[in-house]
Amino acid sequence: SYFTKAKFLTSAPGITHLSPFEGIEIAFAGRSNAGKSSALNKLTRQKNLARTSKTPGRTQLINLFELDEYRRLVDLPGYGYAQVPIAMKKKWQKSLGEYLQKRECLRGLVVLMDIRHPLKDLDQDLIFWAVSAKLPVLILLTKADKLKAGKRKAQTLMVREAALAFQGDVSVHAFSSLSGIGLSEAENKLMTWLEV
Ligand code: GDP
Repeated sequence: SYFTKAKFLTSAPGITHLSPFEGIEIAFAGRSNAGKSSALNKLTRQKNLARTSKTPGRTQLINLFELDEYRRLVDLPGYGYAQVPIAMKKKWQKSLGEYLQKRECLRGLVVLMDIRHPLKDLDQDLIFWAVSAKLPVLILLTKADKLKAGKRKAQTLMVREAALAFQGDVSVHAFSSLSGIGLSEAENKLMTWLEV
């Protein structure tokens, strides 16, 4: 797949540290433990591209992965740690909102949510900001292998229905890094954003 050539480019401590980029970026965001690192590793067929770190609050860096000279994947810090002080959460929200609004090279946002616990408050905030910034959103309902087919479809339809409320370009797919459910759908969507 096109994404296998991804390689780590750099980390930035915050959006203000990202230099301007003439190409296209696609950002990945999700609550901590949603399966973001696993999804990035699956997409790129690389075991350790995005570290699957279990240390709360540690992965506050923005990691940039290069696909080619003009295209990048951006791994945003996971959110929703209960242990993180409220002031830090506020700061995170502000900088993420700014990133979605102001990053001109940003072409779309992938939001990862556990299929069993979708659309928590911060997920909804994020989708709302992205849609407000006129960005298309791809919701991947992760760990889909944990549900039987019937329940998986029902959850997907429920989130799809709920996503209509955002009145933007929001698509929803069940996804599993373990079984590969939804992988080709995700790849196809991202390829259209990257114009490849
Ligand atoms: P992150 O914090 O969002 O980067 O989440 P990780 O990718 O580190 O995954 C969190 C936990 O969920 C880990 O224990 C993973 O093994 C597990 N996990 C991630 N994706 C899947 C999946 O598709 N299926 C199942 N069954 N477990 C998954």
